[in-house]
Amino acid sequence: MTGPCPSRRQLVTAAIVGAGASVLSRPLLAQGAQPRVVVIGGGFAGATAARFLKRADGRLDVTLVEPNAIFAACPFSNEVIAGLRDMRAQLFGYDRIAADGVVMVHQAATGVDGKARIVTLDNGIKLNYDRLVLAPGSDPRFDALPGYDEAAAERMPHAWKAGAQTLLLRRQLEAMEDGGTVVMALPALPYRCPPASYERASLIAFYLKTKKPRSKLVVLDAKDTFSMQRLFENAWKEFYPNLEWVPVSSGGNPTGVDVAAMTVSSDFDTHKAAVANVIPPQKAGRIAELAGTTDRTGWCPVDPITFESRLVPGTHVLGDAAIAGAVPKSAFAGNAAAKICAAAVTKLVRGETPAEPKFVNTCYSLAAPDYGFSVAGVYQPVNGQWLEVEGAGGISPVDAPRAFRSQEAKFAYGWFNTITSEIFG
Ligand SMILES: Cc1cc2nc3c(=O)[nH]c(=O)nc-3n(C[C@H](O)[C@H](O)[C@H](O)COP(=O)(O)OP(=O)(O)OC[C@H]3O[C@@H](n4cnc5c(N)ncnc54)[C@H](O)[C@@H]3O)c2cc1C
Repeated sequence: MTGPCPSRRQLVTAAIVGAGASVLSRPLLAQGAQPRVVVIGGGFAGATAARFLKRADGRLDVTLVEPNAIFAACPFSNEVIAGLRDMRAQLFGYDRIAADGVVMVHQAATGVDGKARIVTLDNGIKLNYDRLVLAPGSDPRFDALPGYDEAAAERMPHAWKAGAQTLLLRRQLEAMEDGGTVVMALPALPYRCPPASYERASLIAFYLKTKKPRSKLVVLDAKDTFSMQRLFENAWKEFYPNLEWVPVSSGGNPTGVDVAAMTVSSDFDTHKAAVANVIPPQKAGRIAELAGTTDRTGWCPVDPITFESRLVPGTHVLGDAAIAGAVPKSAFAGNAAAKICAAAVTKLVRGETPAEPKFVNTCYSLAAPDYGFSVAGVYQPVNGQWLEVEGAGGISPVDAPRAFRSQEAKFAYGWFNTITSEIFG
């Protein structure tokens, strides 16, 4: 090829301008090209990975594929639902990531050929890669709870993806008459950030107590135990006589919904709801399945050192979509895993061996405004699995004074500001 080679940015821009045509970038970039990494999904894990890949080696050709120009964050979206926070505080753009040299492509990925190493975008454009990082988050399983499909979610929002669903649930709670019953349905593990469902229950109960004092919240749960349970239960006892938690052993397992009748059924009962927040079972984001990286659980098995898929070589899976042993599906963990993966990919594309990682996860929960607690864990790979390091980490003390809870609530906000400015700022 003669003349200057177009940059990746020019190439992608040209490709998008000529939308409809199918553009394969490999022939144009073959000579003297730098390794190309395509990241699918610009959430907590993917956006971190793109930024840290570029930071680890500025010569890498990094493209981040994400359909939305604005990312809506789930952590603290429960505060939006409870009327304690403005949705605008949850929204982040990608300009600073692009300014770091990452090529932003605002399209959905619709297909991945892991053998040929080609990603197909919604507009038909194709991107070649040497390594692919998949971080599409999780999707509701719309076939898992009888009666609960995409249309039902417009009437009984899950609000387990932040954005329109968050605002829908907020509006429904506001519009509900004082005296109405709110029903929440919680799935069995694994799913995205289980503690956030109990945080949500707490904050909805707070909203009802302060704004609709004749209303109550019934939480139907497919579990008997959950993380930070004593801390939540103590807070419920102290603040929320209006909250009834029905565990699976008391018949709480959600078995189906009837949208027309506005009912949620559980093992022993049918509950009439003025507002229903149904959090269905979940699986890895659809593109992970299309890429062949999911197993029969619906999630993606990965190598713990590199996060490389155990099913599709050359593809790494991060964040909620991955099966990462004892590591929870959280933004904190997705961000940490992305840094580990970025370091590993930078080595792998140069033929070097990645170092063995360790990482920390902390999940904060608010049971009321100015009342927080947390659980922390340290993880390391053991025999091909992420395991928790015994004796490290821990949970907030059960008998802590109120000032301690207030301090932890401040830490929670500090954590959110830090992680979002590291990724998007
Ligand atoms: C109510 C709630 C509260 C939470 N609170 C906390 C908390 O306090 N702390 C914490 O650590 N975690 C919390 N979480 C969990 C956290 O939000 C998730 O674990 C985290 O977002 C996972 O990151 P991810 O990058 O895997 O997925 P996401 O952040 O969901 O990002 C996935 C991205 O992939 C994109 N995508 C999907 N498919 C495609 C495709 N085909 N092509 C291109 N892009 C695609 C999506 O548009 C999205 O931007 C909470 C979750 C909820 C629901």
